[in-house]
Amino acid sequence: MKPQIILLGAPGSGKGTQAAQLVEKLGYTHISTGELLRKEINEGSDLGNKVKSVMDKGDLVDDDTVLELLKKNCDLENNAYIFDGFPRNYEQAKLLDNVVLKDVSKIAIYFDIDLEVIVERVTNRRVAPKSGEIYNLKTKPPKTPGKCDISGEELIQRKDDNEETVRNRLNVFKSTVDPVLEYYNKTGDLVKVDASRSPDEVMEQLLSVID
Ligand code: AMP
Repeated sequence: MKPQIILLGAPGSGKGTQAAQLVEKLGYTHISTGELLRKEINEGSDLGNKVKSVMDKGDLVDDDTVLELLKKNCDLENNAYIFDGFPRNYEQAKLLDNVVLKDVSKIAIYFDIDLEVIVERVTNRRVAPKSGEIYNLKTKPPKTPGKCDISGEELIQRKDDNEETVRNRLNVFKSTVDPVLEYYNKTGDLVKVDASRSPDEVMEQLLSVID
């Protein structure tokens, strides 16, 4: 049985990009709480309407709401998951273990990166909403400006990827990450990768820690 994978790291540390590749290479299922929440907003659901303003500011949605959404979309009997964006704080780390994973084996991988380089990375990020491809205007531009290489669809900038919101998201991250890392250090499940390296080099590190 493959271990469940938990990706930890700042917004823009490369978790989403790497998760998409791990899905292809190792047959994992990617579950991103940010994506699930954005889907609820796009569908105009009650939950989506409730969380929209919190997400636009870059603050955290309350733990109960995110946990419910996660549970609803998670079938541990039949899938090995890559959890991306959950847990975001100590409380969520405990909930993930006690309520969702229970005694299933897991590995928590921290994407270690200097937060100073993140603002530029994230403000240059563009995404293809349907194919899920992620681009960077400086380091991984699309072949045709503004269009996804794979699906041809129009690329968009996430509403919370503007500089002011990114700075707030980073502050939220800084104020919540240490207890989460301590938690997984204590459980013996924590490994770190150097996320400042190129995407291929980060993938190499990931494959060696997952094996
Ligand atoms: P992400 O796509 O992971 O960058 O998440 C985008 C936004 O969704 C965050 O800034 C939060 O507002 C919200 N969000 C995603 N995951 C969580 C979580 N586990 N707990 C609370 N809020 C979350």
